[in-house]
Amino acid sequence: MSNIRFEALKTAWGHEPVQVKPTGCRASVLFAEKVFTREKMKEYIASNVLEQLFDLMDNEKTLTRDIANSVAIGMKKWAMEQGATHYTHWFQPLTGGTAEKHDAFLDFGDDGAPMEKFSGSVLYQQEPDASSFPSGGLRNTFEARGYSAWDPSSPAFVIGDRLCIPTIFVAFTGEALDYKTPLLRSITAVNKAAVAVANYFDKNVKRVYSYLGWEQEYFLVDEALFAARPDLVMTGRTLIGHYSSKSQQLDDHYFGIIPERVLEFMKELEIEAQRLGIPVKTRHNEVAPNQFELAPIYEECNLGSDHNQLVMSLMEQVARRHHFRVLLHEKPFGGVNGSGKHCNWSLGTNTGVNLLAPGKNPYQNLEFVTFLVNVLMAVQRHNGLLKASIISATNAHRLGANEAPPAIISVFLGSQLTEALNEIENADLDKGIIINAKKEMKLGVGTIPEILLDNTDRNRTSPFAFTGNRFEFRAVGSSANCAAAMLALNAAVAEQLNDFRAEVDAMIANGEAKERALFKVIKKCLNACRAIRFDGNGYSDEWKVEAKKRGLDCETSAPKMIDSYLSDASVKMFGATNVLSKAELLSRCEVKWENYSMKLQIESRVLGDLVINHVLPAAKRYQTMLLENVLHVKQVFPEAEVASLNEQDYIIIRRIEDHASAIIAGVEQMNKLRAKANHIDNQRERAITFHDEVVPLMEDIRKHVDDLEMVVDDELWTLPKYREMLFIH
Ligand code: ADP
Ligand code: MG
Repeated sequence: MSNIRFEALKTAWGHEPVQVKPTGCRASVLFAEKVFTREKMKEYIASNVLEQLFDLMDNEKTLTRDIANSVAIGMKKWAMEQGATHYTHWFQPLTGGTAEKHDAFLDFGDDGAPMEKFSGSVLYQQEPDASSFPSGGLRNTFEARGYSAWDPSSPAFVIGDRLCIPTIFVAFTGEALDYKTPLLRSITAVNKAAVAVANYFDKNVKRVYSYLGWEQEYFLVDEALFAARPDLVMTGRTLIGHYSSKSQQLDDHYFGIIPERVLEFMKELEIEAQRLGIPVKTRHNEVAPNQFELAPIYEECNLGSDHNQLVMSLMEQVARRHHFRVLLHEKPFGGVNGSGKHCNWSLGTNTGVNLLAPGKNPYQNLEFVTFLVNVLMAVQRHNGLLKASIISATNAHRLGANEAPPAIISVFLGSQLTEALNEIENADLDKGIIINAKKEMKLGVGTIPEILLDNTDRNRTSPFAFTGNRFEFRAVGSSANCAAAMLALNAAVAEQLNDFRAEVDAMIANGEAKERALFKVIKKCLNACRAIRFDGNGYSDEWKVEAKKRGLDCETSAPKMIDSYLSDASVKMFGATNVLSKAELLSRCEVKWENYSMKLQIESRVLGDLVINHVLPAAKRYQTMLLENVLHVKQVFPEAEVASLNEQDYIIIRRIEDHASAIIAGVEQMNKLRAKANHIDNQRERAITFHDEVVPLMEDIRKHVDDLEMVVDDELWTLPKYREMLFIH
């Protein structure tokens, strides 16, 4: 009898590194080779059109038909030179991945002759048959029309034989059906709000950009072993599997030497990414065995977010060429760290100032503190929403588990910065603020200390940490679209900045001096945002108690976390900033709940299949072997010795029996509850039922299976084990 696990192991151990051919080019030459950049536009688009195009790209204006037609001509010429024969709108539906539908350039002219055609209307508006994309009730199937249109702030690019045009995806009625549309709206909102506040300090600020630098964590598994694990194939994670004796306890993988097979994969991935204009920069081994990280140089939020989506699909393609499968799931293996996607976020001006970096003098520091305090306030006001923005069935495995962010959002600032903020909060304004001609500023009580930040002062347990010149949102999941978190953050900060400005302006209108008004409102905010500031251990039980006292959102059930999208505060904030309407929020929640249920439905089905068709047969086979042995002992040995000779076998036979019956009963019960959940129409209720009733059973079944793995003869076990999947040779 052949054992698929041993076949897979043999294949896996036979896989050699796939050497990547040198390109002969430096990164600076390869960079953006496959992107229709501004430089290339200058070459391919008429100069009078170019000016208008750049203007709309820079100033968030909408594309007109005339411009679209002229741009299309140049874009097609360039793309065909790159070998493109097809084009596609590249968009980000709420399914989570990216979507494309390829159309050939092929058309027929008036004379019936075949030709390549690509008209401006393709950039302007397309109507993919959208009825199968989730809309959370925003579209009935008979009104299935969804429109996609080019987002000129993200350039077109060529992959293989197709020209990809990054697009937004909206319903017939104008409501967003994707991640990009509200992200763009949030970028507009935070730009407007932040410019107004930055103008207190510098009238030359005309534009504030939000920046994103993601750090993508992922696992690699050999493709042969992957194929022998139906749970990895169907759900992206192992539903069962006893932890390996050696995992990450020696910390020997983190920043360790990258295995050659993996290094070749990384090299090719980086070349492909750089060709597509993705500024990938850092690669290293992560904490868990077989876990790695890739990070780029940060970019404007929209582009950074697109690039992360692109990198995730590139990873999957390139991994296959190296006989790997990439696992982007947040928790592919129990007992070792899961994967996140830290989103480093900051605000910067057109004048080149990072608004979240401490300045060189007290005046600049006042600006820094202004923005810092507003972010703190925004995170505090919307901590539940920010958690909702990152929660999913897959990321739920990370949150609250003792490894990555806790299921409570708080902000880490570090002791130095906290001290500086306390000094400001306690300053006595009546002692006078002196601002001299050099714009140096003195408070009666002393200067605002120049804030020198110690980068090593890091707290890895914080889900939202200030790291010197940016915030690092660490709760984002490795498989997530960054946009979901970024749009919530941008919008929340925009609302807060608007409120801040209204308050300062009102004081100024009442005759208060500008700096004094700023100080007053900052002091008030510093006091108001105490709840969200927490530098201690986010994993501790004391923090859970303390956070509840402070009024922070402590919900631990994923489906209920989603409710925060619909709280009065969220609806008001998203409405005021024009980022998402109530109808759009409702639809997003429906999609999130449905997605949660479907993920669990699939997992629970796969688990049932695995244990009944893979695990139990192996266990029973081994039990039969032991039973036969017991009988043979009886036949061969004198009766007086039989009992003691069979003692060990009896124990194991009994243990297998107990686990097997618990598993069978568990699966039956799980199937019953799944059927019950599937019959619930209300998406929220259904997701809650999966969470409350199906998940605990799955965990329970797993425990029995993992115990069995330790009992059953290794030769009979058909599923690749952790120790085999987690250590690339
Ligand atoms: P670490 O793992 O220590 O957090 P990395 O170097 O892996 O650091 O990643 C840091 C990420 O933060 C990179 O993507 C980097 O480009 C990004 N980053 C640096 N400065 C900023 C900033 N001002 N705004 C947004 N992202 C930034
Ligand atoms: Mg980091």
